[in-house]
Amino acid sequence: MKQNIIDIAYLVSGIMFIYGLKRLQSPATARKGNQLAALGMFVAVVATLFLQEILTPIHMLMGAVIGAGIGAYLAKKVEMTGMPELVAAFNGFGGIASALVAGAEIARFMAPNAHITGGEHLEAVSAITISLSILIGMITFTGSFVAFGKLSERISGNPMSFPGMRLLTILFVLGSVGSMIWMAMESSVFPEVSDPVVYGAIFIAVAGALLGILLVIPIGGADMPVVVALLNSYSGIAAAATGFVLNNTALIISGALVGASGLILTNIMCVAMNRSLFNVLVGGFGGDSGGATGGGVSTEGMTVNSTTADDVAILLSYANKVIFIPGYGMAVAQAQHAVRELAEELIKKDVQVKFAIHPVAGRMPGHMNVLLAEANVPYDQLFEMDEINGEFETTDVAVVIGANDVVNPAARHDKSSPIYGMPILNADQAGTSIVLKRSMRPGYAGIDNELFYNSNNQMLFGDAKESIQAVINEVKQL
Ligand code: NDP
Repeated sequence: MKQNIIDIAYLVSGIMFIYGLKRLQSPATARKGNQLAALGMFVAVVATLFLQEILTPIHMLMGAVIGAGIGAYLAKKVEMTGMPELVAAFNGFGGIASALVAGAEIARFMAPNAHITGGEHLEAVSAITISLSILIGMITFTGSFVAFGKLSERISGNPMSFPGMRLLTILFVLGSVGSMIWMAMESSVFPEVSDPVVYGAIFIAVAGALLGILLVIPIGGADMPVVVALLNSYSGIAAAATGFVLNNTALIISGALVGASGLILTNIMCVAMNRSLFNVLVGGFGGDSGGATGGGVSTEGMTVNSTTADDVAILLSYANKVIFIPGYGMAVAQAQHAVRELAEELIKKDVQVKFAIHPVAGRMPGHMNVLLAEANVPYDQLFEMDEINGEFETTDVAVVIGANDVVNPAARHDKSSPIYGMPILNADQAGTSIVLKRSMRPGYAGIDNELFYNSNNQMLFGDAKESIQAVINEVKQL
């Protein structure tokens, strides 16, 4: 009876996850989708802990209060600019949780006479799922924290490599596979957990941790979105493997959903960067990806036109069509509300306004959509790169708000550039492009941007929010 209730609760939570995920497809329903999936997770957790009597209600309440407290604190404290690294850290915690649960399963089987008292013993299949869970969980853990460091600029975003790195990686992979086979063979012979199983699990945990680091450090700046999406997928796969270890349907469903959607996202990011996953990973391991500071057309001796808020206001007010291109700098400046206000002012003047979203703009997938949705920019003004790229030629002004790499024309023709081949937003094809940024410093990929030197480009230097606000004040007076 109790098991039936648990199974039904898991089924309900699985349905909630799937509907929640479906609703994440559109910004209009995404918030509700997120809440539905969170409720689904709550149902699954209660079913597991309460109905299986793993914890007393008091312990559960304590866990819920501590967990909700940490969640609420982080949600309030973390700035929108810190979201990408927070998401990376969450992925990492997901990974280590899976690895720890799998490790605990080995410890459970190690209890004296566990195979006799509980009537259970570690079977070969369980040994493989446990070791997979530990391996993928540890890769996700350390890989995500290296990504956290790179995204928060605590460690260099440049690709890092050393001689013998590829060999070391191959050795760890082979060692892990060997350990898995060894563990499975030992488990099929001995009913109790033997020393080789424990040593194998420890080796896999250490190898996984090192593989996670080796996976992410060689990836260069501009290729990071692919790795972030891949780690997201790994955290789901690790959770699904743990679901098999525990025989927990809800964990299998939620892990599989995260793993599969992460893989789809990885593919979207690869398409956005015009790279194959193999190229990103193997290119990084080859240590010859050019480096985040490599490539780039020489702009020495070239000059830029700088402009003022007054002139930009005039240009925008008398334009027929304006396209805004937001980038990471808009997130840093928290300029999204001001941008929405400027768009509204221009629309009042009968200017056609659109927003062009590059899939890798910002520092996490969907970063710009999240910011613009938060600022209540109508969804019908947002356009994906493929939808809008053909329109720049008929656009009077393209306003680049803290974007850099995603509008760098070097991606089209400079084979030595680390972003070569990445489709960009065609800001340079607009009648005039205006770039809002604070200095001539490069973006995440670390390369100079020839757009800034074009004769039809003007730089409005300063913090994006302050610049936009100054432009709004002028527009209102025209
Ligand atoms: P970039 O990182 O290329 O450029 C951002 C620009 O914003 C900088 O040149 C900076 O110039 C400017 N900026 C920073 N602060 C402000 C401010 N307060 N006001 C005005 N401007 C500001 O951003 P893009 O969005 O164009 O490109 C994203 C890059 O990040 C790509 O290379 C992508 O591959 C990478 N990436 C993306 C991830 C994702 O999932 N989307 C994940 C990891 C990496 P200045 O300092 O002069 O102001």
